[in-house]
Amino acid sequence: MSDEQRMVQNTEQDQEWADLLSPTRRSFLVSAGLTAAGLTASGIEAEAQDIAVPQGFSFKPIVPPPDVGKSPWGYETYKEAVARPKSIRPGEESGLPKAPRAYTDIKSYHAHFYFDEDTYEKAALVRKWVIERFPVELGNWNLQPRGPHVTPSFYFGFTNDLLPIVVPWLQLNSLGLTILLHPNTDDPRADHLYYTLWVNRSQAVNAYGMPKSATVEKIFPNIKPTVKLEV
Ligand code: ZN
Repeated sequence: MSDEQRMVQNTEQDQEWADLLSPTRRSFLVSAGLTAAGLTASGIEAEAQDIAVPQGFSFKPIVPPPDVGKSPWGYETYKEAVARPKSIRPGEESGLPKAPRAYTDIKSYHAHFYFDEDTYEKAALVRKWVIERFPVELGNWNLQPRGPHVTPSFYFGFTNDLLPIVVPWLQLNSLGLTILLHPNTDDPRADHLYYTLWVNRSQAVNAYGMPKSATVEKIFPNIKPTVKLEV
């Protein structure tokens, strides 16, 4: 192919793209959307006739055959009345809370670290650093969802006196992991859903079914630090 031929071809291709992106073409595309929404503008069809589909752009969608059978939900779900779910917010079962909760209701804290197949090495490194530095209660590696935690995780529990150290330390050493910090009170559901602090992005926690508990989670440190905390 000569340079001249190539130039001609390029010009044709360029024109094809220019047509695709031109205001006329765009107005056709927008109008096509309007047509699909039942808002046909006048004269659009006539214009559409003039625009040829560029070569190589035509395709036939492949769709699976329709399923044969009946809906397990029956055919009257549309009749169901709108219903307000029972409130799950603490103290709001009947309007707003009468008074604030005492902060001394918090007996201890958990820090849950979430990770996946791409971030497990970061989780392992932070976990190692924690083990070296803090007298905490360290849990197992959970490679499957466990309790209200819907992705792989590990946790450590700690006593209230460590909070002013653990929070800034995690802020600076999270390595970008999502970390749930929750207090332990007599209301585990609220502990996980409404009393939380998050380091970095939050993620779903399935604690909606957690009942209130007379006994508050206790912390029994199982780690003896070996490294002096950097200050
Ligand atoms: Zn926890």
